[in-house]
Amino acid sequence: MEYIFLDVRNPIAMRVRRLAMLLSGLEPHPSNSVELEQYTTDGELAARWLADISAFSDLSEGCKVADLGAGNGVLGLGAMAMGAECAILVETDQTACDVAMSNAESMCVADSVEVIRATVGLDPIDLDSIDVVISNPPWGRQIERADRPFLEAILSAGVTAHMMHNAGARHIQSIFEAAGWGVERYGEADFALPVAYEHHARERGRTRAAFWRLSPP
Ligand code: SAH
Repeated sequence: MEYIFLDVRNPIAMRVRRLAMLLSGLEPHPSNSVELEQYTTDGELAARWLADISAFSDLSEGCKVADLGAGNGVLGLGAMAMGAECAILVETDQTACDVAMSNAESMCVADSVEVIRATVGLDPIDLDSIDVVISNPPWGRQIERADRPFLEAILSAGVTAHMMHNAGARHIQSIFEAAGWGVERYGEADFALPVAYEHHARERGRTRAAFWRLSPP
């Protein structure tokens, strides 16, 4: 038996811990297409990241969130648990959409969550009412530039975005700065890759993710 001692006097740490437990209990991503870079951000990392987003005041009570490449919905649904008013979850894989909706139901937030089966870069996606975009998109490891439609979608949404991407990615800063956006790379974390990727990627099981805040001019 392993005991984890929490600082119960620290309400933020307790909140993050509770969110991590909630998100860890969600049904994971149902698919494992390597081409679509399908995997689930684990609940612990998602909770810590969402707490950081909240610390920027980008996830205030009542805000409207879009999660692009939502998978099982862990990020958009986590944002709901942090007090967002509603979330749009955009995902190309129908089975993942079904899981995301069932996760929304299990969290009793389905009424405020819209799951849209759409392919970013191909289908029109209305992000007009959105206050903040949160996205862990495909990083373009398998299909080069698979992340580009997501970067374009953020640019055209014109609202603050938080993105997780390969820690080695160099293009994000240049693309957004060229468009006059503020770019802040505020964190890094180990990211657990599913076993399927070990055969395809050079990494063995873990890779390094970084977190960017992109703010419109
Ligand atoms: N955001 C989730 C899933 C990350 S995996 C999480 O962090 O756990 C990336 C997701 O993007 C996959 O579910 C994949 O199916 C989806 N995806 C890939 N290309 C896409 C596209 N062009 N449009 C919409 N979703 C896409």
